[in-house]
Amino acid sequence: MKPLSSLPVEELRKLRGVAFDLDDTFLDHGRLVTAALDALYRLKSAGFELFAVTGRPASWGAIATHQWPIDGAVTENGAIGFFRDGARIRGFDRLLPEEREGRRAELARRVLELRQKLPELVPADDVSGRISDFTFDIGEYQKLPRDAVLAAKRAAEALGLAVMTSSVHLHVSLDRADKASGFLRFVSDRFGIEPTRARTSYAFIGDSDNDAACFAAFRVSVGVANLSGRQTVPPRYRTQGERADGFVELADVLLARDA
Ligand SMILES: [Mg+2]
Repeated sequence: MKPLSSLPVEELRKLRGVAFDLDDTFLDHGRLVTAALDALYRLKSAGFELFAVTGRPASWGAIATHQWPIDGAVTENGAIGFFRDGARIRGFDRLLPEEREGRRAELARRVLELRQKLPELVPADDVSGRISDFTFDIGEYQKLPRDAVLAAKRAAEALGLAVMTSSVHLHVSLDRADKASGFLRFVSDRFGIEPTRARTSYAFIGDSDNDAACFAAFRVSVGVANLSGRQTVPPRYRTQGERADGFVELADVLLARDA
């Protein structure tokens, strides 16, 4: 990983926007800090397209798209997107409503089985806002030891569930989604941006295991200094600052490209 300051200006000039993770990247220990929100407004004023790409629930994506100066949000690790349609916010799910309903019922059955096997697993506080997955708290309000997380992963996979972890959560789902494929499908479908082009037109910044697909997919991939977990492909660049400070650092580098 190279320092973010070494990102060549020619590469910066190819970027039309930023896709960014929320927890431990844009959000500082769960909080939206002034400097990060200000950086979003500065990027938006300079004409950058902005997308939150998160493991957080669909309900968070709808609110973020409504309230923040962003163009959309891809939530639940790629499964559900949100975009503006005039003054309204609309959802994007590649499944038809009846398909989603059937999948939710099947997911609920398997989650029940998983919880019977591992009663120590604690659901995350945000489960009620989710559409495509079910989520357990492994680091948000309680720390689950690494071997317990691995055991939970194995048990979920044995039930045919896809598993994704972030610094705070363990997600199980019947959607084989990841943040990169979810984002690329979303911008292709909603904004007509061809996936190969999108990979070089947006920078991605994240911190954790569930960002690995994006670190591999995006030409300009950035990890914040608090990068954790094990990524098969590490981000190409790393910020000096942690969390929101790292996000602001990327914003400043982008905004200085024409200086
Ligand atoms: Mg994160």
